[in-house]
Amino acid sequence: MNKAAEGRFDDIVPCTSCCLCFDAWSRTEPIYCQVNARAGRELELNIIPARQQKKVFVVGGGPGGVEAARVAGLRGHKVTLFEKSKRLGGALNAAGGPSVKDGVGYFRDYLIKQMRKEGIEIRLSTEVDNAIIEKERPDAVIVAIGATPIIPAIPGVTGKNVVIAADVMAGMKSVGNKVVIGGGGMVGCELADFLHEEKGKTDITILEMLPKVAIDVGPTLRWVVRKRLDEFKIKIKTNARVSEITAEGVKSVCGGATEVFEADTVVIAVGYEPSKKLVREIEGKAGVSVETVGDCDKIARIAEAVESGFRAALKL
Ligand SMILES: Cc1cc2nc3c(=O)[nH]c(=O)nc-3n(C[C@H](O)[C@H](O)[C@H](O)COP(=O)(O)OP(=O)(O)OC[C@H]3O[C@@H](n4cnc5c(N)ncnc54)[C@H](O)[C@@H]3O)c2cc1C
Ligand code: SF4
Repeated sequence: MNKAAEGRFDDIVPCTSCCLCFDAWSRTEPIYCQVNARAGRELELNIIPARQQKKVFVVGGGPGGVEAARVAGLRGHKVTLFEKSKRLGGALNAAGGPSVKDGVGYFRDYLIKQMRKEGIEIRLSTEVDNAIIEKERPDAVIVAIGATPIIPAIPGVTGKNVVIAADVMAGMKSVGNKVVIGGGGMVGCELADFLHEEKGKTDITILEMLPKVAIDVGPTLRWVVRKRLDEFKIKIKTNARVSEITAEGVKSVCGGATEVFEADTVVIAVGYEPSKKLVREIEGKAGVSVETVGDCDKIARIAEAVESGFRAALKL
């Protein structure tokens, strides 16, 4: 309210409507917020000036890296943030794709603006490797390079009709009229919603190995996700393991029998694994402290990336 009264609207962190705070309440856990690491931990997580200014490299321009750079800058360190693509935001650029999740996009823009205010040097289109670290010799490196999509080792997965969910959400890949999505977690379900509502697709099937879809969505929002899939007449097949992809579609083992699901495009949405290569290359180098934050440490969500970025910057 004070920020609004002072006209500082850019400094107000936007709520993403993720409902993680409601999930925490429903489990009688302490208050928690996806976009504000300090919420409920105001006495523990204080931004205090650093005793000694350090040359800090933050690698990765997703929420973990941007938050780490912002907080390190606020503490008085000399920070450079590197991003290998042309754009900051990391996986938030895909996560904020559907219009129902525009709050994620507002949060991304807020975070980047706040980081820029701290005078952080930003180097886009720069993929950091060991050679850059050896040449420029920072005191500390915060690695926030995110995760890599898991590509299951099944016949046909490298076919021309196969794309990755995040590439579709980010607008980098398109799909045909008949779509089969392999994987019914949060990403697979959101993709189905997005393809129906924003791309007008009417023939979408989700194949999920587990007995339920959207199990990684919190209880406050899960029913909304399910209700929309039902309203949009998205076909859902659970206990269904994708066994082969062909030019015609997907073969799936469902309760012991093999079924064929026709598709123009097959979208892979079976999860992510942490990107570890850079950490392995630079860890243990004399004089350089290394911290990993966000999905490259452990696959989680925006909340964990933001909190771990905040905490890593407090350790410097
Ligand atoms: C489609 C989709 C939907 C999602 N929806 C949600 C959701 O609703 N709620 C939620 O909580 N989470 C969601 N997530 C997950 C969430 O986006 C991630 O957990 C979060 O973005 C992780 O942040 P990060 O900073 O660790 O990594 P990322 O956001 O992945 O950012 C890593 C960045 O590092 C860069 N990079 C990689 N290697 C290098 C290098 N060597 N040098 C320089 N830069 C490098 C990458 O280009 C990237 O920009 C979703 C993810 C996807 C893909
Ligand atoms: S946890 Fe999510 S819904 Fe709750 S206040 Fe924070 S951003 Fe908003």
